[in-house]
Amino acid sequence: MTQADRIIERLSKEIEGFKDDISTENVGTVLEVGDGIAKVAGLEDLAASEIVKIETNDGENISGLALNLEEDEVGIVVFGDYKKISEGDIARATGEILSVPVGDEMIGRTVDALLNPIDGKGEIKTSKKNPVEKVAPGVMTREPVGQPLQTGIKAIDTMVPIGRGQRELIIGDRQTGKTAVAIDTIINQKGEDIKCIYVAIGQRESKIRKISKKLEEAGAMEYTTIVLAGSSSSAAMNFLAPYSGAALSEYFMSKGEDVLIIYDDLSKHAMAYRQMSLLLKRPPGREAYPGDVFYLHSRLLERSARLNEANGGGSVTALPIIETQAGDVSAYIPTNVISITDGQIYLESDLFNKGIRPAINAGLSVSRVGSSAQTKIIKKLAGTLRLDLAQYRELEAFAAFGSDVDEDTKKKLERGKRTVEILKQGQYQPLSVAEQAIIIFAVTNGFADDVESEKIVEWEKGLHNFVNNTHSDLAEEINTEKTISDEIKDKMKNAIEEYKEMV
Ligand code: ATP
Ligand code: MG
Repeated sequence: MTQADRIIERLSKEIEGFKDDISTENVGTVLEVGDGIAKVAGLEDLAASEIVKIETNDGENISGLALNLEEDEVGIVVFGDYKKISEGDIARATGEILSVPVGDEMIGRTVDALLNPIDGKGEIKTSKKNPVEKVAPGVMTREPVGQPLQTGIKAIDTMVPIGRGQRELIIGDRQTGKTAVAIDTIINQKGEDIKCIYVAIGQRESKIRKISKKLEEAGAMEYTTIVLAGSSSSAAMNFLAPYSGAALSEYFMSKGEDVLIIYDDLSKHAMAYRQMSLLLKRPPGREAYPGDVFYLHSRLLERSARLNEANGGGSVTALPIIETQAGDVSAYIPTNVISITDGQIYLESDLFNKGIRPAINAGLSVSRVGSSAQTKIIKKLAGTLRLDLAQYRELEAFAAFGSDVDEDTKKKLERGKRTVEILKQGQYQPLSVAEQAIIIFAVTNGFADDVESEKIVEWEKGLHNFVNNTHSDLAEEINTEKTISDEIKDKMKNAIEEYKEMV
């Protein structure tokens, strides 16, 4: 046998024994890692938001999210402990887009940015998963906002009403009561068949524990989920939390249910994204935010909607929160979010410090779509309220000069003072439609003119107690009908007069 024959024989044997068991894998290697970001080369055809698994030296698989897709390398945001990853580790594409578990089982629980339980109440057994990023419902599947979402806060329900499916921004400096408005709104949904989701972004865990306790006490955890990416969580988790919350809201909406979702707050969300982007070495733009920071919030808020009947009729109402610096609403992130939302509730430090709480600036707060959803009775009564308030603000400036004012002006000033007083409201005390209607009816019709303005708050409390105890049928009538007629007006008048005789 010649040399050549031997080679041929060996090759033939090799070919005979060949089995077609090759599988392809999309694999790359880690180039560098640091601050929760890994740069990987070699991964091809990766999708944005695709999950990548990185195998460490000790064989552990750490998940990450592909965010920055470039020609020859990708930026992976690492979910686990990035310190275990080292240069040269193998990264595998999974072909899966990041999704989170969703289901009714989430109600009453506190979960992290990936919707895993962190409240120590055990595992959450869900059978469904929703993608974290999803294209918002198209225009043909939507319906105009037409059903109210009562916050239970007088100043909001009367002057900046919110409808189901609306996106209303809560904006103000630090410590102006932004979170308080959101939490009170959740508490007020008791018995309303609305699922609530509170997404806390970059907030201290201790603060959230307090909030969760308050919600528990108010019986609001029976329909609420808290999604928490605390200040000790990574930027990636802070970035993810609102999208995971949105994925959960979509689960309920797709079943035809109404949902209220709070994003507290999107300023910190934008900062987390900025941090991630700078680590990924993306070019910084205005205020060092990356160029697509507008898209960060628009694609999130666009996912709240009111669907039409053909699509199940569910809704997601969003109340994003933005923190301003020294009242500056023209900064980059505030203007962006103002332009995305259907109006804003503007809270002011000056008012807050003066004791006007909630510190709502009625002049700068607007609701672009909510008035078509406002309850008829409140709408009717609120017209006079706004007018009284506007006149008061105008005259207040003159009165400040201390000049003599005529009788008519004096009257308007006194009325205005009382109007401002009745718009004050303590925390955790949401009011029903009937309670709101009766107190506004009382003030705008002059029934409170002879009550000293310092005593109005107390007087109002007494009135609510009186009506709820002795005229519960009237309260119930208003709460169910939500309209105003001469008959109801008479009944309200009689009740208020009875009360006045008593005190
Ligand atoms: P931060 O900027 O820290 O997030 P914030 O704007 O969310 O603050 P809150 O935390 O809601 O403000 O409220 C600030 C403080 O004001 C809290 O101590 C809260 O209890 C109090 N507060 C809020 N609303 C009212 C109210 N209507 N009546 C009385 N106190 C209130
Ligand atoms: Mg807050």
